Amino acid sequence: MFYGKYNFTSLALIILLFISPASFAANSKETPIKLMTEIFPPFQYKHKNEVIGVSSDIVNAIQEELKIDNEIEIHLWSEAKEIVDHNQNTALFSMLRTAEREHKYKWVGPLSTMKLVFFKKKGSEITLNNIDDAKKVRAVGVTKGVANFEMLSNQGFTNLDVLTDSEDEENIRKLVDGEIDLWPTLLMAGLYNSRLQGLSGEIEPIKDVVAFSGDLYIAFNIQTDDAIIQKWQNAFDKLKEDKVIEDITRRYASEKTDFSLFVKLLIGVLFIIAIVIYHNRKLSRVNKKLNELQGQLQEQADRDHLTQLYNRRYFDHAASIVVKLGKRNKQQTGIILIDIDDFKLVNDTYGHHTGDDVIKHLSSCLLQHVRESDIVARIGGEEFVILLPNTSIEGSLNIASKIRAFVANSIVNINEDNTLKLTISLGVDEVLTDDKGITPSLNRADKALYKAKGSGKNKVETISKQ
Ligand code: GH3
Ligand code: MG
Ligand code: MG
Repeated sequence: MFYGKYNFTSLALIILLFISPASFAANSKETPIKLMTEIFPPFQYKHKNEVIGVSSDIVNAIQEELKIDNEIEIHLWSEAKEIVDHNQNTALFSMLRTAEREHKYKWVGPLSTMKLVFFKKKGSEITLNNIDDAKKVRAVGVTKGVANFEMLSNQGFTNLDVLTDSEDEENIRKLVDGEIDLWPTLLMAGLYNSRLQGLSGEIEPIKDVVAFSGDLYIAFNIQTDDAIIQKWQNAFDKLKEDKVIEDITRRYASEKTDFSLFVKLLIGVLFIIAIVIYHNRKLSRVNKKLNELQGQLQEQADRDHLTQLYNRRYFDHAASIVVKLGKRNKQQTGIILIDIDDFKLVNDTYGHHTGDDVIKHLSSCLLQHVRESDIVARIGGEEFVILLPNTSIEGSLNIASKIRAFVANSIVNINEDNTLKLTISLGVDEVLTDDKGITPSLNRADKALYKAKGSGKNKVETISKQ
């Protein structure tokens, strides 16, 4: 009994499975249709591996309505047409329904309208008031196998320049090169393909005159069962009634909107690029200014405020380099230490301000006697040093003597009525091979300076040579 019941249930399940709608569609009456199309935006094109577009979306909506799911295959137009011409249960979209084709296929639709406009070379003087004006130009470029050839031939055009292969986009170059005057194509296809070829600025559409307008359909092989055609057409009509067709068409908007969206995007991107360039320029200007300021600051940090001579810090840094270079190049480096004689007296007699003027006067005297490569620094209140690269002790003694004499003979104007004379004492030495850095020679020069002070001031002395 139990087994009997079990067997009965299984049988019922199996029967139910067989008559379920899914298996019904897959296994019985529904004849598979080989659905083909070509890439032809905006009617059908690939987006992220999916075929979308006005026509293909409608075809898919019809299939959904009929609860079938034939895959849409992408083919070259000529190949697909060959298949649909000779094989039952095949269909090709989006095909223009023309009188010539009327009895070669069975039709479902119309899916959408195809409107051809004329493109001309940008700036060309050709103007069209109506379609007949286009018959009077020298040459209109069309392509065999493409709707523009068939449509314009039928309208009595005798000025057609016909390409025999299916590369209709070649007409863009022919327009630009002046080989043809007009090229009839879809507004969007013209704009899209010229952009692809980098020639979008070179051609323009004449929008007021329609070269051809016709409806696009699904063309089924002529042997296809009328019942199938009827079912497809009924589904289409229902979608049309439910405004689904209208929705899909609106979704892809007009060609004009698509293009203006592209322009808007382009303007947006250009705007952002302009802002980035502007900011970069501004930034580099600010950077340059900062570098200048930094240089100026560095320069200030190396200088003595009162005399604008180098300061002690810079002297130490420069001296270490000069000494190293001198040793490497086996060149002598001279050093002269200078101290103003009886400077306290100047300050005490004329005041600190005059003392400062004297210091400035001396610094200018020193600068007048050195070479560009020499380094003159103020290293104490009224103490100065001169470092002389590539100079022997004799050479340094010679320069020191000249400076001493020059200063002793110079006159400082302290005000309109009074002048002042000053003298200096100088200690001279040189960097020796065994010296570590500048300090030993600086110490010897200091001793020499002390000697000069001790022997009556206004003198040049050295302890290294007699
Ligand atoms: P000596 O001949 O032995 O060098 O005698 P001196 O009077 O010059 O003695 P010393 O070198 O010791 O004196 C230095 C004086 O220089 C002390 C200080 O008041 C003065 N002095 C230091 N720096 C400045 C400065 O920037 N401006 C002025 N006006 N005076 C300064
Ligand atoms: Mg002193
Ligand atoms: Mg002094």
